Amino acid sequence: MTLNPAPNSFRTGPDERGRFGIFGGRFVAETLMPLILDLEKAYADAKADRSFKADMESYGTHYIGRPSPLYYAERLTEHLRAQAPAGQGAKIFFKREELNHTGSHKVNNVLGQILLARRMGKPRIIAETGAGQHGVATATLCARFGLKCVVYMGAVDVERQAPNVFRMKMLGAEVIPVQSGTRTLKDAMNEALRDWVTNVSDTFYCIGTVAGPHPYPAMVRDFQSVIGIETKQQMLEMEGRLPDSLIACIGGGSNAMGLFHPFLDDRDVEIYGVEAAGHGVQSGLHAASLTGGRPGVLHGNRTYLLMNEDGQIADAHSISAGLDYPGIGPEHAWLHEMGRVTYLSATDAETLEAFKLCSMLEGIIPALEPAHALSKVMELAPTKPAEHLMVLNLSGRGDKDIPQVAQIFGQTL
Ligand SMILES: *Cc1c(COP(=O)(O)O)cnc(C)c1O
Repeated sequence: MTLNPAPNSFRTGPDERGRFGIFGGRFVAETLMPLILDLEKAYADAKADRSFKADMESYGTHYIGRPSPLYYAERLTEHLRAQAPAGQGAKIFFKREELNHTGSHKVNNVLGQILLARRMGKPRIIAETGAGQHGVATATLCARFGLKCVVYMGAVDVERQAPNVFRMKMLGAEVIPVQSGTRTLKDAMNEALRDWVTNVSDTFYCIGTVAGPHPYPAMVRDFQSVIGIETKQQMLEMEGRLPDSLIACIGGGSNAMGLFHPFLDDRDVEIYGVEAAGHGVQSGLHAASLTGGRPGVLHGNRTYLLMNEDGQIADAHSISAGLDYPGIGPEHAWLHEMGRVTYLSATDAETLEAFKLCSMLEGIIPALEPAHALSKVMELAPTKPAEHLMVLNLSGRGDKDIPQVAQIFGQTL
């Protein structure tokens, strides 16, 4: 029995209610509904406006530094071929989002939302942040456009991520430590949603991943799709054909959706998402919502979540603060159920190995988040033929992780 017949296209969602199959939607307080509808309309207008697209391209080029290179990781490729049976070992490419201004893919989405906030005449921007990367990107663009910026951050994360807290303050943002719940990312997001309801007239909520109520998951995906659009074009120029596989790490899932979406209907392209398995999915200490969670509702949408037997949201664990979210974007939940994307998970230990290998072989210190995906490249590449073209989304640089990794390796700075 086929429960989910493959649709004609995997790229048409969401429907008018914001659903991807049974996932997504907008489960919000009545008071938020007018704001959400306003935003949906403003985004639809902007999408149809050529001047909005021109602004995205212009700031994308001159401020963010796009396009990011598609880079042939030659030494990593050779290293993995040496471990593979004869004639095997994929050719590995990095999509270098770590070279963007502020050091990750987050800025692609923030640029889009801030330009939208300007169109809507909203002078005050709020955001949630976990590791602080989205907060820094938001504070950066608010500085650039002279907008007031308030960032909600769990008190535990404020402690753990002191350099990024300082960065946001340098950029003129106000950082509010959130004391509720587990005092981490999910609580920061709750607090931001509360702020939005109470400051309806002047405030724009800039969400950092493909989560939240409709239209956020689709809008953030669209802004991040520049990653996949460029990759397609660059691979055609370099190799004269499409890649054979794509792979990206998943926290909420925005860098992955950005790379994947333009390829979803190229059915010969294999697609892999990599969740954080922490100490292992069996241990209970992980952030693998698809691999180890079940469907529920959080932050305005239905998706796979980590929860306990009573349905309370469980704590996520990952070595990487950027993957430490107990949910996943609803479009990923749908792609998982449709079987279009294969979801794997990587442990903290596997991630650290990949982190070291990439630094030593390619002279690129990756963020711990994409190091999760890299560890699965190390497993998958040797099983593929030598002509197989594999693209890893290198979503961010590792500078922010240096103090933490040094501590794990027993070094003092
Ligand atoms: C925030 C972050 C992630 C996780 O977010 P997604 O929405 O899943 O992309 C991944 N990589 C880096 C470098 C990040 O900063």
